[in-house]
Amino acid sequence: MGRLVVVSNRIADPRKTSAGGLAVALGQALEASGGLWFGWSGKVVDGGTPGEGELRVQNAGKVQLATVDLSSEDHDSYYLGYSNGVLWPVFHYRLDLADFDAGYIAGYRRVNAMFARKLKALLRPDDVIWVHDYHLIPLAAELRAMGCQQRMGFFLHIPLPPPLILAAVPEHEWLMRSLFAYDLAGFQSEADLNHFARYVGTEIPADVLGEHEFRAFGKSLQARAFPIGTDVDEFVELGKGREAQDMFEQMRREYSRRRLLLGVERLDYSKGLPQRLKAFRQLLQAYPENLGSATLIQIASPSRETVDAYAALLQELESLCGGINGNFGELDWMPVRYIHRNVARKRLPGLYRAANVALVTPLRDGMNLVAKEFVAAQDPDDPGVLVLSRFAGAAEQMHEALMVNPYDTARTAETMQRALQMPLEERQRRHQALLEGIRTQDVHWWRENFLTMLTELSQS
Ligand code: UDP
Repeated sequence: MGRLVVVSNRIADPRKTSAGGLAVALGQALEASGGLWFGWSGKVVDGGTPGEGELRVQNAGKVQLATVDLSSEDHDSYYLGYSNGVLWPVFHYRLDLADFDAGYIAGYRRVNAMFARKLKALLRPDDVIWVHDYHLIPLAAELRAMGCQQRMGFFLHIPLPPPLILAAVPEHEWLMRSLFAYDLAGFQSEADLNHFARYVGTEIPADVLGEHEFRAFGKSLQARAFPIGTDVDEFVELGKGREAQDMFEQMRREYSRRRLLLGVERLDYSKGLPQRLKAFRQLLQAYPENLGSATLIQIASPSRETVDAYAALLQELESLCGGINGNFGELDWMPVRYIHRNVARKRLPGLYRAANVALVTPLRDGMNLVAKEFVAAQDPDDPGVLVLSRFAGAAEQMHEALMVNPYDTARTAETMQRALQMPLEERQRRHQALLEGIRTQDVHWWRENFLTMLTELSQS
């Protein structure tokens, strides 16, 4: 394989723990090939020229990190507007929350064109380019228009909705046509792949050359599901660190007489947080033995708060938590500990390990890595129970979790109760099977599968 070039909206220094499993996994592949990681610097330049941003290149070990800044206008239209105000909600099936402002698309195109221009200057002919996520769908088309012939793959980290939902995006045809500039498109789940096949089969329509091969606009495209995993070994190591151990000890001390349920996510409407809180309220109502004992720790780390839909969600959550604590709480017991702050990655394994039950109940989610991290962090002799929404991408792999429909409040409460009461032997059996699964299909497996396929295509 030639040099690997990874392009994503945000980049991370793979040498830092805070970067997370994905950055570590990509960093390893980048290091092996002396690669380049390209993306937005995270800086917004007030009053900067739209479609322009300063390029900076620095070395992080054997890897080059290249970043560009965004002007405030581009940040508003490309990032907040089109990526997170249109694509994020629609791809998570939330047409009701989409803001189809006609002005956003110009910024989205402009930034993709600028990324392509800046990147092109750094490319070599035998590079293999791997583009990540919904911010950058048209990047390959921009590069091709400038004459780039390198092998290019795309991975969508979020779900792809059914064709009729996707069709609500005014530019859906252009977006999907842009995908054909890639050689390989990867999705999180078979469900997403199936939506893609149905879309291109009916809306374009493309020739279906095989189960995974499509032809349209004079170009063939391979499309497959590559469910992303977590770096299990890295996470287990993290769990042995002082920060995680301290967190574990502190939680066990603090909650020695309680049963802990845990939710950890960015505060996002895809995560089903209000539905989860209602189910927890129902748990307390329907199974009073949990009063004075069951405690839900809900971490909701701040995210995209300048987008309207997020501010509304924040208010709803605060009101639900206040209601539950006010109605059920005692002087010595608060049923919900709602924490609207980020918990450092180094401490998370300790929190996961201290919990009896993890609630991972999104309304729709590309994968959900928290589900996998929770399993990785458990004590195999006394593991906690994973309650998982059938609408998480992870549900296609993690069959031994207790599956729920988060819209069904009564059944979700019933399942929480079952999780709290599950006998040790069943917990161990389920955990062992889940752990085996996430170990086999970890983040390295994901990366190697994608890159092997992309490079094999390049040799054919
Ligand atoms: N995470 C974290 N601290 C927090 C909340 C989340 O480090 O307070 C991490 C979590 O460990 C996981 C990631 O953020 O690795 C969330 O990934 P996931 O796939 O679950 O959801 P996303 O945020 O990508 O929608």
